[in-house]
Amino acid sequence: MSLFQPLNLICPKCEALITMEAVGSVNADRRPDLRDDIMSDHFQDASCGACGFTFRLQPNFNYLDAGRGQWIAGMPSARMPDYLEIEDEVSDLFATSYGSRAPAAAQAVGTALAVRLTFGWPAIREKLLIRQEDLDDVVVEMLKLDLLRRLPEAPLAPGTELRLIGTTETMLSFVWVETASEEVVGEVLVPRGLYDAIAEAPEAWAPIRAQLVNGPFVDMQKLYMGEGRAA
Ligand SMILES: [Zn+2]
Repeated sequence: MSLFQPLNLICPKCEALITMEAVGSVNADRRPDLRDDIMSDHFQDASCGACGFTFRLQPNFNYLDAGRGQWIAGMPSARMPDYLEIEDEVSDLFATSYGSRAPAAAQAVGTALAVRLTFGWPAIREKLLIRQEDLDDVVVEMLKLDLLRRLPEAPLAPGTELRLIGTTETMLSFVWVETASEEVVGEVLVPRGLYDAIAEAPEAWAPIRAQLVNGPFVDMQKLYMGEGRAA
């Protein structure tokens, strides 16, 4: 089931009261239109009836797509620095919903689900795109690490991240994007050969892969934040 709850908020521009339906969970198998809205960058758009100002509610919901084998906890971008605690909460929630502590029928669904935690809209959209294009999200994150070594002027900073936004037969299209505002500040086109070279060298990349998959937040930014999870 997809669940929404009425949410009252104050217009950031004119301070009028706005009521909107805030999402708590998305079932993409039953509501593929909600997945489409995420892919088109309009899910949870809000507009003020008084002044017309438009903005977007930050994600704070669980996403299930059993058909594509995805379960994602989508969190607000501002919470990324707390990813270790949130990883534990999310792992716990998944265990109760579809994992070891769930009813047998739910566990049967859960075995086919990849569990992920994302922060902000660009990240969750990227996870859906990667699955749609039959890519490996861990390899995509390793490719980003590889790109950072090749791009000395990379604008990597807290709140600015590199996200895959599209693919062609020969190229992968990334953007540098400000997570909260979703403003694109640069583009990077990458030949698919760079992705393939990483995918075809699993042993060389095994230590990095192990760090990326030590919790549901599979994102190269975790390698830059604090000391990370103790081994
Ligand atoms: Zn307003």
